Amino acid sequence: MPLVSFLRMRVRPGLSMKLVFLLCVSTAALTFLLNASGTLHPHSPVNLSTNTRLSLLGNSSGHGDSCVLPKLKLWPPLYRKLFAKPKGLDCSLAEENWVYVDRGMFQISASAIRRHGEVKCVYTPLMRGRNDYTTIWGDPVVDVMSGMRLQTDFFKVNCTAEDNSAYFNIHAGITPVREPTPGPDASAGTQNPLGLNILMIGFDSTSRLAWMRNVPKTYDYLVNILGATVMEGYNIVGDGTPRALIPILTGHTEWELPESHRGVKGARTMDGHPWIWDDLKRLGYVTQYAEDKHKMGTFTFGMVGFQKQPMRTYYLQSEKLGGLSRRLCTGSVPRHVVFLNYARELYRTYPAHMRKFSFLFHVELSHDSTNLLQLADDDLVEFLKDMNGAGHLDNTVLIMMADHGQRFTRVRRTVQGKLEERTPFMSLRFPPSFARTHPEAIKNLRTNAKRLTTPFDIHATFKDIVDYSATMRGDVAQVSHVDEARS
Ligand SMILES: [Zn+2]
Repeated sequence: MPLVSFLRMRVRPGLSMKLVFLLCVSTAALTFLLNASGTLHPHSPVNLSTNTRLSLLGNSSGHGDSCVLPKLKLWPPLYRKLFAKPKGLDCSLAEENWVYVDRGMFQISASAIRRHGEVKCVYTPLMRGRNDYTTIWGDPVVDVMSGMRLQTDFFKVNCTAEDNSAYFNIHAGITPVREPTPGPDASAGTQNPLGLNILMIGFDSTSRLAWMRNVPKTYDYLVNILGATVMEGYNIVGDGTPRALIPILTGHTEWELPESHRGVKGARTMDGHPWIWDDLKRLGYVTQYAEDKHKMGTFTFGMVGFQKQPMRTYYLQSEKLGGLSRRLCTGSVPRHVVFLNYARELYRTYPAHMRKFSFLFHVELSHDSTNLLQLADDDLVEFLKDMNGAGHLDNTVLIMMADHGQRFTRVRRTVQGKLEERTPFMSLRFPPSFARTHPEAIKNLRTNAKRLTTPFDIHATFKDIVDYSATMRGDVAQVSHVDEARS
């Protein structure tokens, strides 16, 4: 499968060129419609085969055979009309959680003890069951003390206090079961000399413009403070979440991989796919993958999922607590903050010298409509500030992204909506030290930000990050850009 790294910038012949052509054609077709009308077409269905011809004619006027990225307004009238400020999220109306997790350790809060007197807690490990849809409870541990090392990433806790009040909740943290030993690939010595962590955080159904509309403070912090590069020509290569994420994570389409679709004869679990995290594990990386919304899991909704299971185990149980917590909260903490903390705890719990790969994909706030995503803006900025301030980003490639744009709301019936669905948010931020030592790679990245790029290119960029080779060591002659036809 031909792939193009954002850093290497080379288009190889074959399928990638066909794919690039098709993406250009279909995107340009919609752009042509938008431009020709001067407005949106709220209800006109788009016939791609017809518009392919239109787009070719449109492309020929002054742009040669280049791919023209659509120029979209940030605030078309319909978007302004449908945009709504969600009611404020105030999980603090609940009493502050009595228990929290800090650097892999169980802690009882000082304020709970001040308020209720001595607090005694029972810790019950929460583990994955026999498949992606079941959980099991481990043996309860009574009278757990602050400072106890977590036995499992997820657990429930029942506490009683001196004043007879009680607390129950489910928590998430990181258990460094053991320090992973680098696999045989790492012992070769020359692999992964960059030694960069990769932290990728995604939100479902959020186009580049939807990100700018709904989390503007985060966008500003990412771009103007951290210096992230936003890939303005980033385009999906298939419909829905799996077709967006599988190419990023494996470098393949789902059809190129062993059958794993639910209900299809011979389908088997996806553990054997060539996941990037397996490559990284062999190089000694600690890896983390998390999703919320277990009912619509990327790899379990239409596919058969994994033998080994990520964070949904936590949500399988915490979502059952609905009645006990305010909407979008788990106790006194917003659920998206629980989610972000899971990544933060990975960095806080494992030592800095251990390489980390973390991918967290959040669905709840943006799947149906992106309006709720506004609730996460301040928390995302705080998260990024905290990660940056603690030095966790000094050696980390930060990727904030989405799988695709909105698929269901009224905007999807407009031409702009169709274009936004194809152009999800994708940003990469390399640490300043990397930018200083590899200016050519960063220059390439910024050039490619204005060209057509796809999930396959993210996968190729991962490969470059961990399999650093001579072409990236300032040998400009060997570094080529994404073909200009993708500009
Ligand atoms: Zn999705």
